[in-house]
Amino acid sequence: MKKDFIFCEVNKLKGVGPQLSKYLKKKKIEKIKDIILNLPYSETDRSKIFKLNNLEIGKIQTIKVQVKKLNFPRIRNLPNKIVCEDETGKINIVYFNSREGYLRKLFTLNEWVIISGKINYFKKNYQITNPDYVTILKNQDYVTKNIPKYSLTEGLNEKKYRSISEEVINNIPKIKDWLDDFYINKNNLNNWNKSIQELHKSVNLQKIQSKSFRRLVFDELLANFLTLSENRKRVKRKKLSKRINYEYEKKIIKDLPFILTESQKKVLTEINSDLESNYRMFRLIQGDVGSGKTIVSLLSILNVIKSGYQSVFMCPTEILAKQHFELSKQILKKMNLKIEFLTGKTESKKRKEILNNLSNGKIDLLVGTHALFQKKIFFKKLGLAIIDEQHKFGVKQRSELAKKGGDNCDVILMSATPIPRTMMMSLYGDMDVSKITEKPLERKKIITLSKPEKKIHELWPFIKRQINEGNQIFWVCPLIENSKFLDYSSAKKKFELIDNKFKNKVGLIHGSLEKNEKEIVLKRFLEKKISILVSTTVIEVGIDFPNANLIVIENANKFGLAQLHQLRGRVGRGVKQGTCILLFKDSLSKNAIKRIQILKQSDDGFFIAEEDLKLRGYGDLIGFQQSGIKNFRFADPVKHEDLFKLAENYAKNLKNDVEYEKYNFLLKLFDKAEIINAN
Ligand code: ADP
Ligand code: MG
Repeated sequence: MKKDFIFCEVNKLKGVGPQLSKYLKKKKIEKIKDIILNLPYSETDRSKIFKLNNLEIGKIQTIKVQVKKLNFPRIRNLPNKIVCEDETGKINIVYFNSREGYLRKLFTLNEWVIISGKINYFKKNYQITNPDYVTILKNQDYVTKNIPKYSLTEGLNEKKYRSISEEVINNIPKIKDWLDDFYINKNNLNNWNKSIQELHKSVNLQKIQSKSFRRLVFDELLANFLTLSENRKRVKRKKLSKRINYEYEKKIIKDLPFILTESQKKVLTEINSDLESNYRMFRLIQGDVGSGKTIVSLLSILNVIKSGYQSVFMCPTEILAKQHFELSKQILKKMNLKIEFLTGKTESKKRKEILNNLSNGKIDLLVGTHALFQKKIFFKKLGLAIIDEQHKFGVKQRSELAKKGGDNCDVILMSATPIPRTMMMSLYGDMDVSKITEKPLERKKIITLSKPEKKIHELWPFIKRQINEGNQIFWVCPLIENSKFLDYSSAKKKFELIDNKFKNKVGLIHGSLEKNEKEIVLKRFLEKKISILVSTTVIEVGIDFPNANLIVIENANKFGLAQLHQLRGRVGRGVKQGTCILLFKDSLSKNAIKRIQILKQSDDGFFIAEEDLKLRGYGDLIGFQQSGIKNFRFADPVKHEDLFKLAENYAKNLKNDVEYEKYNFLLKLFDKAEIINAN
């Protein structure tokens, strides 16, 4: 087999026709290399031959028997039956939907055969229905062994798949390894060829810390990091440097009702130095909820505008956009800037005017929704695009984003989703990252309490007092409607209950409302027309509700820690003390209790994310589903933490101009070559 053969479609294999290709495709096996990467998940021990008086119903066993009778009934729907014997008993081998000719070839009267399959018992007889293997004694060795088990679908049986897979695995050409022997040995890996052979031979070796499996994980990560660093090179193109006059920034900072934290100052310096550099900025600002990202972004916008460019500020929702719009007008009012607001709802006359003024350069700052950047909008001289709450952007959208905006446009993404250290590189390796690690000093820590659900009545007087004092309350439920299957609270039911207690003071918001409907409810809440907002987790994190200081979260154990942390971050943003009450069902697992403790003890989103990762694994962290981290097939950030670091260092230590030739095979193996070769 030639090396490139590995990257051919599976139908190039002997015995794989169009029908089988279709079935394989269902299992995401399209190219021959996909067979290589499709590891067995378990194995079946077929090695021992059992006597017929020694069978166990329900087990997969192997027997050696003599064919005594072949029975092909002419009546439709009756199965074909072959009666077999050994010296200790009798068994029926039963076939549904099989041809007589085929079976006659398989079973010759009075011949001895090896049969392997699941033992059943039917009408006082042992029976195997559609056995996995039937073979003559001469080929016994093919069957009597530990046989790897692959996950299969309809139309694909083990025997067939095994023959294809073995054919491929046994004929993989020797690949020139991209890692050298010294590196392989030092880091407890195997070479590539050996790893693949071993991983298909026996499932035990697949154990996540085996040298062979580690090698596969390393490769997957390396392919990923190489792709990101290539993306990085592409987005960090040359641009004209911006000349910043720091007098303006100073003046605004002086007028703020607070002093910037050291973290905010540091991040601002990083941004400014990117603005002044000759390379385009592509930077992520990460900061926990309430850490004060907005003001940092507004100051950057100011610097860009004063250096002669326009800026655009994009938000996930209209309401958040509006908030940022108002804030920017207020903070920058002395600067004599033209600031406009544009969303999908802007009426067409106004819209035309805005678009016109953008292209002739009269508007300095445009604030609007994310949807804006997909539309055709022309700026005269766009110098900075800021995207708030960006956690929904994956690698691909980012590289598209970086292409927009024109040659001199710097890009800042902002996110409140805390990402554990292990995963920073996998998620943001193509970006520079600034972190706001402190919170404003006077910010009070949110009091976090937990309560069993059955004591919910104790809350009502407390809530009543809050309302009387003019405070506002979030009430979060995991479900929209009651479910037959899940014993969780639903927002609709809870709304009825609470609405009954506090007439005309309660609103309801959830994911199946239209976007407008949602915004109407949120607005009523913001304008204090209602006091309690019952919701699912739909509320966007970025919005400032300075008056909300209590959040109640039902079935709190259903949420990830990071998510609970984000939820509680919605309260206590103003001067008042914030409180978060977590409601639980009675019985909590040890793990659940530990999780609440972490939440009570810390209000550091990054710490919480790390702990959550350790406790629950990475599948549950918010924002990850969309982020692409889930695309790892083999790597697990908890179990392979060291390999994440190793692969990251490996990628970083490569020379600026990586010879992708050397890694071409690797990149193709993990479907990255197309990404790298595009453009
Ligand atoms: P986030 O990082 O979640 O977007 P915001 O930028 O919305 O946070 O800031 C949250 C609140 O904190 C705002 O009301 C803002 O005015 C305030 N704030 C920002 N920086 C500081 C600071 N250095 N000191 C005190 N309050 C601050
Ligand atoms: Mg924000």
